[in-house]
Amino acid sequence: MNKFVKTNIGAPGRPSRAEAERAVSTLIRWAGDDPDREGLSETPARVVRAYEQWFAGYGEDPKEFLQRTFKEVAGYDEMVLLRDIRFVSHCEHHMAPINGRAHIGYLPGNRVVGISKLARLVEVYAKRLQIQERITAEIANTLERVLQPQGVAVVIEATHGCMTSRGVSQREATMVTSRMLGAFRDRPETRQEFLSAIDLRGTTRSV
Ligand SMILES: [Zn+2]
Repeated sequence: MNKFVKTNIGAPGRPSRAEAERAVSTLIRWAGDDPDREGLSETPARVVRAYEQWFAGYGEDPKEFLQRTFKEVAGYDEMVLLRDIRFVSHCEHHMAPINGRAHIGYLPGNRVVGISKLARLVEVYAKRLQIQERITAEIANTLERVLQPQGVAVVIEATHGCMTSRGVSQREATMVTSRMLGAFRDRPETRQEFLSAIDLRGTTRSV
């Protein structure tokens, strides 16, 4: 889980935009439609542009933007928590959307990070082909490595398009994954404080 996914951004083996568009045309034909009809003629180009946004996370290394941390914490030694960070990812098994929200907590050591960086961290890992377990672990492991806090907690709740719209068609099923490190793993009261704060059992909320 600690291994970072290799990317081929800028690598010579990466297909060209034209090749990617041809692949989309092939999929349209495979679905049973005519990629040359008027409504679909621009679709391959649009899909490839959408891919640039959905998978923008391959071009970024979160360790770089997280390096800018604040060392002056003025004695603050309580939990820092950012909850309900919405994200859209895509599952690596079906390339179907994963709609989720992440909750991140950490107990600072001697540095803290701007909260927008936490949201960006989620975004970078979400904008790759993923499984929910890996996004969860990557966020927690990266924060632990860069901030060296006393503890990190990450909980992700998400619905998976491959399950809501195909296969078993479970529209309401939400998957919950978590990774607790340091104090959140070792101290039940710290973990409980985090879990209460994110209101995980507030099951009336929809993802
Ligand atoms: Zn899937």
